[in-house]
Amino acid sequence: MTPEKHRLQMRIVDIRETAIPLKSKLSNASFDFSEMTTSVVAVITDVVRNGKPVCGFAFNSTGRYACGAQMRARFIPRILAAPPETLIDESGANLDPAKILAVMMKREKSGAHSERSIGIGTIEVAIWDAVAKIADKPLYAVLAEKFSGGRIPERVFCYVGGGWYWPGQTIKDLQDEMRRHLDAGYTMVKMKVGGLPLEDDLRRIEAVLEVIGAGDCLAVDANAKFSREDALRYAHALAPFKLRWFEEPCDPLDYALFAELASVYAPPLATGENLYSTQDVQNLVRFGGWRPQSDIIQVDPPQAYGITEYARMLDMLARNGWQRSALFPHGGNQMSLSVAAGFGLGGSESYPGVFGDFGGFADDARVENGTLSLSDRPGIGFEGQAALYRIMRELAGL
Ligand code: MG
Repeated sequence: MTPEKHRLQMRIVDIRETAIPLKSKLSNASFDFSEMTTSVVAVITDVVRNGKPVCGFAFNSTGRYACGAQMRARFIPRILAAPPETLIDESGANLDPAKILAVMMKREKSGAHSERSIGIGTIEVAIWDAVAKIADKPLYAVLAEKFSGGRIPERVFCYVGGGWYWPGQTIKDLQDEMRRHLDAGYTMVKMKVGGLPLEDDLRRIEAVLEVIGAGDCLAVDANAKFSREDALRYAHALAPFKLRWFEEPCDPLDYALFAELASVYAPPLATGENLYSTQDVQNLVRFGGWRPQSDIIQVDPPQAYGITEYARMLDMLARNGWQRSALFPHGGNQMSLSVAAGFGLGGSESYPGVFGDFGGFADDARVENGTLSLSDRPGIGFEGQAALYRIMRELAGL
């Protein structure tokens, strides 16, 4: 090896993970978040900037429990055991996420995606954070150069995932919440349905529409609660509102029922936060009756093998006639915001004031006219979220 080559090579020194409780009192139609945890990951490299090692960070988004066992037993040891030169790009100066993904997938049997896709995806997204920091660019800029012809939007459309059920809530409380979102600069909101009888949910929707105005500024989310009978009952009752979308009306793998609903419910349908692979999404568009001109797909990148796999899923969708504007990654965090900006997707979700340190964006991010500003911090930008970054910094020992 020449001295020049040796100088250019870099390596991963350590990968750490820890489980953190979300401490949330919220409920949707299907479950409450009282036990919810998330895995925080730090990828520590030997690249030094400003006297400190460059570290990539991620967490496993919201709604799925921490998955440290698989990371500790399989994915982290595989990466650390691989010869460092097999994990870097051609320049030798940065990591190659696709090669690292392939190393994590070694000796994995096909199928059963979510047993591993969340652990692998969280590590893979942390790798991308390190890649962008080493390149000294925001992650969305790195993704735009690689996957989107270099096009970087100035702002990203962002809607609020809100309208949760919580104990003692009144209709007025719900309307006040929606007014707060509008006052904060959002123009579209989403609310939960399916946690109360249909008649009560319809009253909640009408009350929210009094505040929000047009039906296409409101989406509803049933969190996969409904049986066929209930899904059809809600579809018929919701159709006249012409809502922006009706999310997760039924089991996320019941493609026949999705297709049946799409045949009777004209406004947009949405799903995808419980699909974990390109193959799952291909099945949705093949067999679920999902309509490229109107329906929405919400795969959450750190829960579904990460950003390399997300790009492959977009390629598959493009071959099937889908535009990127139909994609709204689940998550309400800076990972999904970076992905939405970098790939030029329809937009991002936001959970203001919920999920503690793990919800939301940079402390200096501003919502204006339903769009979010992007920071120019290198990487995903967790350094701009003081409370969350404290947890990450501690894990990495910075
Ligand atoms: Mg949802």
